[in-house]
Amino acid sequence: MLLKDKVSVITGGAQGIGRAIAELFHKEGAKVCVCDVDEEKLKEVEKEGMKGYKLDVRKLEEVEKVFNEIVKDFDGIDVLVNNAGITRDNLIIRMSEEEWDLVIDINLKGVFNCSKVASKIMMKKRSGVIINISSIIGQIGNPGQVNYSASKAGVIGITKTLAKELAGRNIRVNAIAPGFIKTRMTDVLPEDVKNRMLENIPLKRFGEPSDVAELVLFLASDKSSYITGQVIRVDGGMVI
Ligand code: NAP
Repeated sequence: MLLKDKVSVITGGAQGIGRAIAELFHKEGAKVCVCDVDEEKLKEVEKEGMKGYKLDVRKLEEVEKVFNEIVKDFDGIDVLVNNAGITRDNLIIRMSEEEWDLVIDINLKGVFNCSKVASKIMMKKRSGVIINISSIIGQIGNPGQVNYSASKAGVIGITKTLAKELAGRNIRVNAIAPGFIKTRMTDVLPEDVKNRMLENIPLKRFGEPSDVAELVLFLASDKSSYITGQVIRVDGGMVI
């Protein structure tokens, strides 16, 4: 087992990519703590033998409270996966301030909040791993996603800075940039948009949440002990 007894916190882990990460980590022996706003889905996670914590990553005080509870329950945090994220798409001329603020608050400030609290906990242990789920949209941009692309580009900035800040304490920080992965987030896209996207994917299929989870597992495990500050794409070759 690659993560035997590693205390692993996965934000937005109640469904989609986060849920696939949580389930794979559980199979690999980790003590999995799923943090999410969706209480119903957290109950399902608990039935599978993982621990669920209600958490809105936007609120620093809430993150401090929940992460301290996790430390009490499991004695530390070894792995943090910053996965919680949303979209609120619109062209810039139509985008409201609320749509901008909400996406930045969850996707970017949420990563700041969770990384800030977890790194303090990890520094005491002088070891840890942080994995941030960014997006190829943070690297290449996309019309209608100015809020989302800014947030995901920001996550790459956080990743590179924290990799440098925390390396001396044996904490590695990496990011993953998925392409099009089949989850609720992408289900809502119109069929013609999906078909056009498929034409631009050399591997000729959309990604599964497990495609991302396998890379998160590698980056969380000791198999990647000399890798930090990197952004790795999981996109079927969409961006080459
Ligand atoms: P998803 O299926 O919508 O899952 C996201 C989870 O995050 C949901 O359970 C959601 O809860 C939770 N969440 C939302 N706001 C939160 C908050 N403030 N605090 C804590 N949890 C919160 O989305 P996904 O497709 O798996 O996406 C996961 C990550 O991958 C996101 O960061 C996304 O940007 C990134 N990503 C996805 C794709 C893709 O193609 N799917 C591509 C690139 C990157 P609710 O359901 O209650 O809102």
